[in-house]
Amino acid sequence: MNKILDSLGLDAVNPGTWHGGEHSADESAELIESVNPATDEIIASVRSTTATEYDALVTAARESFLEWRRIPAPARGNAVRLIGNALRENKDALGSLVTLEMGKIKAEGDGEVQEMIDIADFAVGQSRMLYGKTMHSERPQHRMYEQWHPLGLVGTITAFNFPVAVWAWNACLAAICGNINIWKPSPKTPLCGVAVQKIVNKALAGEGLPPVFFLFNDAGNQIAQKFVDDERINLISFTGSCAVGKKIGERVTARMGKVLLELGGNNAIIVDAAANLDLAVPSIVFGSVGTAGQRCTTTRRVIVHQSRLEELKSALVKAYAQVRIGNPLDAKTLMGPLIDESAIERVQAACAKVREAGGEILCGGETIEGAGNFISPAIALAKNDWEIVQTETFGPILYLIPYNTLDEAIAMQNGVVQGLSSAIFTDNLQHAEYFLSNAGSDCGIANVNIGTSGAEIGGAFGGEKETGGGREAGSDSWKAYMRRQTNTINWGSDLPLAQGISFDL
Ligand code: NAD
Repeated sequence: MNKILDSLGLDAVNPGTWHGGEHSADESAELIESVNPATDEIIASVRSTTATEYDALVTAARESFLEWRRIPAPARGNAVRLIGNALRENKDALGSLVTLEMGKIKAEGDGEVQEMIDIADFAVGQSRMLYGKTMHSERPQHRMYEQWHPLGLVGTITAFNFPVAVWAWNACLAAICGNINIWKPSPKTPLCGVAVQKIVNKALAGEGLPPVFFLFNDAGNQIAQKFVDDERINLISFTGSCAVGKKIGERVTARMGKVLLELGGNNAIIVDAAANLDLAVPSIVFGSVGTAGQRCTTTRRVIVHQSRLEELKSALVKAYAQVRIGNPLDAKTLMGPLIDESAIERVQAACAKVREAGGEILCGGETIEGAGNFISPAIALAKNDWEIVQTETFGPILYLIPYNTLDEAIAMQNGVVQGLSSAIFTDNLQHAEYFLSNAGSDCGIANVNIGTSGAEIGGAFGGEKETGGGREAGSDSWKAYMRRQTNTINWGSDLPLAQGISFDL
């Protein structure tokens, strides 16, 4: 543990307020303890930010923006390139810290840092491609085009389960677009925020750039709420639960700010009559047990054709029995702990609700003796319309739901309030295409013969309905961090009006 902290320059108590290279720590502010979910040990602490520190931070960020926006976008891209290189150098240590603090296995911790590197690379290229369109004006000797300008201050609030990658999705793109990023990480993973801030600031030190990446920590949600309501923050990009995100969306919209919401999912895989189970079974297990069921894209429901139910059921129960649960830093482990005790309680309560509704727990749902928040992953036979199945329980419980017709399966897949990720396993081309058609999945992500989780950064990531409608990472997601301006230039000597209107004086 100490080796990981030392290599990232973390102390037993760390300042939680960072203005680029500078940091502050008001000794009167509460300490946020970072707890290892695999052992219940305190790893280190981070000092919360006071209201006064927060105000100074936003003022400094605003001043920085006035400078940063003047730097050409490709030069801003070069700064992000330096960050990507620094992350490459620190991949092992930062990946280990993610594992230590959040509990995901080391391969996934490293994978999260790889995602940061990938989005940094993507952003470097994008910095030369902030394209606007040129239109043909209806008026003679007029030219019309659009251009994209930075928004100003981009506030990023992140969830505990992706403690570093989601920051990078937002911060790398926001930076090349000319914005300043202010990050509020989850109080469950404060050390990851400080470690990233240190890596990034070191990479940019001596480059003669204004500070671009700011961070504050909040033990509760008081300062975070101030942040959400703060008119100086042009965009709030929020990743978290539907319940919190809905309120944040309303508050930011009420002050006419911009908001980007990446909220919860209730993702399903349809296993068609013509599915190849050699592909489906490992995908379902990775999707439901990976990150101990704590991904927004976790496979929560498997909607299986009646003719394949028995076969799939026994294959899944057998595969679940082989999942090695334990220390997430051990290379052999496939499933680490849940984030805290209340997450364990929620999975157990979900198992109880399945039983009450008349369903059957096929395996799992049992806590594991000793320190840490360990539970065996559960599979339940259930019905789609049960309240508990309609709910995102953020842990390893998978519902198996049989169906008879593809239309019925798609109606069930879409019959939840969330709309993040979905998949079908089939070798039937018509069924695959039908699932992807506008009569098929209503989610932001729809896959064929690939599971619901593990997206690449090149595509736009996000979901519909109560998942919030936001899109981050690849494709044209960069546009969320900019404002569009339409420009019309009259290079003639007459003043024709649009729509042929005459207005002679
Ligand atoms: P959460 O909603 O409890 O917290 C998310 C963040 O919001 C944290 O930083 C928290 O401190 C902050 N927060 C809480 N109340 C707030 C308030 N009133 N004002 C301002 N900030 C507030 O979520 P969590 O438990 O950390 O994460 C799990 C949830 O996040 C799941 O629902 C999961 O599906 C979702 N998630 C979504 C995505 C996505 O991209 N769609 C990615 C990761 C996680």
